[in-house]
Amino acid sequence: MARPTGVGTDEVRRANLSTILQTVHRHGPTTRAELTRQLGLNRSTIGGLTGELQALGLVSEETAVQAGRSGRPSHLVVPRADNLVATVDLGVDRIAAAVVGLGGEVLERRTRLHQRGEHDVDHVVESVAQMVEELLAACAGARCFGVGVAVPGAIRAEDGMVQFAPNLGWTREPFTERLGERLGRPVTAGNDANLGVIAEHLRGAAAGFTHAAYLAGSVGVGGGFLVDGVPLGGSAGYAGEVGHLQVDATGPQCRCGATGCWEMKVGENRLLQLAGRLPGGGPSAVAEVIAAARAGDERAAASLADVATWIGAGLRAVINLFNPDVIVLGGALAQVWDVEADTINAAVERSALLAPRGEVTITASRLGGESPLVGAAEMAFNPVLEDPQALACAAGPATTRLASPRR
Ligand SMILES: [Zn+2]
Repeated sequence: MARPTGVGTDEVRRANLSTILQTVHRHGPTTRAELTRQLGLNRSTIGGLTGELQALGLVSEETAVQAGRSGRPSHLVVPRADNLVATVDLGVDRIAAAVVGLGGEVLERRTRLHQRGEHDVDHVVESVAQMVEELLAACAGARCFGVGVAVPGAIRAEDGMVQFAPNLGWTREPFTERLGERLGRPVTAGNDANLGVIAEHLRGAAAGFTHAAYLAGSVGVGGGFLVDGVPLGGSAGYAGEVGHLQVDATGPQCRCGATGCWEMKVGENRLLQLAGRLPGGGPSAVAEVIAAARAGDERAAASLADVATWIGAGLRAVINLFNPDVIVLGGALAQVWDVEADTINAAVERSALLAPRGEVTITASRLGGESPLVGAAEMAFNPVLEDPQALACAAGPATTRLASPRR
C-alpha cells in the first residue's frame, strides 16, 4: 500500500494520507513509529502527513511515553470520533440505525419495529430519516460524512436503486435517492449480506481470510462473498443471491416466484412452522425453539434437525461454487449452527466434490446481528478514507469535540 518516498507528487501524498487514515480507522490508535515501519517512509515524512490529517480534524496526536523504554517518546495517532457516519440496517421486521465514529466505535443507536404493512416506501423513508436525524442531533457539532444503508435485496451498484427486495415487497424502488433528498445528505445503499461480508472481513470472524462467504438468515437468506479479498458484485451488483438457490425441486413456492429456494427451507419462519409455532417471531422465537429442544421437546428438536440438514445442503453448493476459506454464518443460521453443527457438517460432507469440507472454516459471525450495520458504516466512510483531503474539506470542519468513548 505504501508508495515510494521522495516522489513528492500530490497523488502520492493523497495515497499516503489515505493509507494512514485507513490504518488508524481499522486498527485503532497507532504510533508514528509503527506507521513509519508500515509505509516504509521516513519519520519526517510521516510527521508531515499525520500533521496534515490533524489539521483536517481527522486525527489527534498524543504523546505516549512507553514505560521502561528509553529514547524518544512515541506519538500516538488517534482517529477522531467526531468524524462520523450514520448507518442503517433495514430489516424485514425492524430498522436499526446508529452513528459510528471514525475508528469504528458505535456512538449512538436506535431500533424501531416496522408496523404491519409499513413497508410502504414513503413510510420507510420517513422512519429512517427521523431515526437518522435523532441520532445526528445527539451528536451535535460532529462532522457527518454521509449515510450508509443495508437493504435486504438486490441493489443496483451505480445509483442505489432497490431493484428487488422480495421480503419488503419492493421492485425498482428509488429508495436511496429518496432518502438522500429527504435528508439532504449523501446516502449510499448496499445489499445487507454484501456489506456483512465486508464487516466480518474488516472487524469480525473473516479477518485474515481472503476467500470468504457471509451467509445470514432471517426471513430470507442473504449471501455476500469476498473473492481473493475483493467483494463479489457481478455486472450490476446483484451477485450472491444464494437464498434463491434451488435446493428442493418439490417445493415450497418462494416469494421470488421459483420453487424450493434455500431460504424457504432454512428461513426463520420455516423453522417456526415446523416446530408448530406462528411465523414472524424473529430471533427470539428461534431461541425459544432451541430452548424447547434442549428441554426435551421432540417436535422442536426434529424441526432444528430438518433445518440443519437443509442448511448443510446449501452450504455444500456454496462450497463447491466458491471454494471459500471461511464461511461466516449470521442470524438464524448462526443460531442453528451453535446447536446443530454436527448435523450441518454431516449434510455438507454427503458430497465433498472438489472442495473438501475439511479445508473450509465454518463459524458463527463475530459481530452478531451487527454485521450489515457495521458494513454500511464502512461503505459510508469509504470516500473520506480514500481521499481524506477532498472529503474533509467538502464536509466542513468539525466544530465541537465529542467525548471519545475510546479512552
Ligand atoms: Zn426464491
